Amino acid sequence: MSFEKLGLRTELLKALAQKCYACPTPIQDQAIPAILEGKDVLGGAQTGTGKTAAFALPILQQLSESRAQVKGPRALVLAPTRELAAQVCYSFQTYGKRLNLRSHVVFGGVGINPQIKALSQGIDVLIATPGRLLDLAGRRAVDFRNLQCLVLDEADRMLDMGFIHDIRKILKLLPTKRQNLLFSATYSPEIKRLSEDILNRPEMIEVARRNTAAETVAQSAYQVPKNQKRILLSQLAQDGKWEQALVFTRTKHGANRLATQLASDGIDSAAIHGNKSQAARERALSAFKNRSVRVLVATDIAARGLDIRDLPFVVNYELPNVPEDYVHRIGRTGRAGKDGQAISLVSQEENKLLWGIEKLLGRKIDFVGNEKPVNSSARHQPKNTPSGSKPKNRSTSKRSSNRRSGNKNGSDDRERRNSNSKPWNPGESDRQPRSRCRRRKPAPSRNSESEVASKPPNRFRKFFSKRATASSR
Ligand code: AMP
Repeated sequence: MSFEKLGLRTELLKALAQKCYACPTPIQDQAIPAILEGKDVLGGAQTGTGKTAAFALPILQQLSESRAQVKGPRALVLAPTRELAAQVCYSFQTYGKRLNLRSHVVFGGVGINPQIKALSQGIDVLIATPGRLLDLAGRRAVDFRNLQCLVLDEADRMLDMGFIHDIRKILKLLPTKRQNLLFSATYSPEIKRLSEDILNRPEMIEVARRNTAAETVAQSAYQVPKNQKRILLSQLAQDGKWEQALVFTRTKHGANRLATQLASDGIDSAAIHGNKSQAARERALSAFKNRSVRVLVATDIAARGLDIRDLPFVVNYELPNVPEDYVHRIGRTGRAGKDGQAISLVSQEENKLLWGIEKLLGRKIDFVGNEKPVNSSARHQPKNTPSGSKPKNRSTSKRSSNRRSGNKNGSDDRERRNSNSKPWNPGESDRQPRSRCRRRKPAPSRNSESEVASKPPNRFRKFFSKRATASSR
């Protein structure tokens, strides 16, 4: 299917051509016609699948066909974080730049008065985080009377972040007759309840199995003591000549400290987290995007919605407490069919967390460098991996994980039973390639950057062999 066949207007097609989007991704293939028909949509799609364009394009098309001289927004997109909201607004502005429609974003952490002024001048599409939108509504700065379409983007994350009450308050302010689109990477009982409350006979669309990592992301792990992680990371970045790596820590303080330490190792780094001002967050992000800083250290919440073109590396400096966050984190790389690497630095204390992640993924994550991880007895095996099996090479484990994805006893089915919820419309699309218009890159050559990255740095080879000797004593 091409974008032309989806019935999009020339102005949008020109914008897509300028972005070099040759053909629609699976979610775009399915969602665009449904939205153009005016249907409600329940979309099971993770970030990285092209879901923003899947709703932005048909919304822009619909709004452009019924131009109204009204001030209030005709479409409202709610997003969990400032970064995602800004990203979504940027997409609307980019795709719709030939349409003479106004898209505007509002979020907290910045002055409210310029937002009130912008709203008073009239807009077509409003992208907002829930808290700030309620503040604006409380000041009567936004008029929802002409609203035709509501989008809840990353609805699961909004619920995780405790926005359900704000969302329900916002719903009460909106006209009851409207089109509703809800996108979520996971389908929990809470999402099910919310979708039943909001959506009217929705078209169910799912393009990637829940809780699966993109196949284009090569995942590996290093077993490393907590106090050695920073040295290992510096070494990986330097030996591998990394130009761009997004590194996740669990705490804001930890993010600051690591960015400073890496900078003292000669690696230009910045931190992004919820305690930073919006201006500082934007500065850090744009420095990372234009590659004047090589490493961006982020917490989970702050990294939500970050769309960094062709990001090659994601590093889990600390594993997340919630296994699903691992999937969200590594989804920052390997986007839109591109290859990417996700590297986890796992201390012994985190082995249990790794086990939880492996259980969720239904596959094992190979350790690099030390075939026998330090204290390997502490390492749990996921249920569906033969215990004690040796780490496989990457291509073998990819094949076997693909085989397992068809396994009815996989983690997905277990979760469905536990959650007592209806499964997503079981996706034939699960088996579709993520993007049919891009050819996969050839496997990296032996001397390529990714090859370097997957080897333990020299210093660590020494470290691992010392540890192995010490622990055998
Ligand atoms: P999203 O899932 O909306 O965050 O999009 C992920 C990335 O895919 C973004 O960088 C988009 O610019 C890109 N993208 C979206 N649709 C397409 C497409 N049809 N072809 C190529 N890239 C796309």
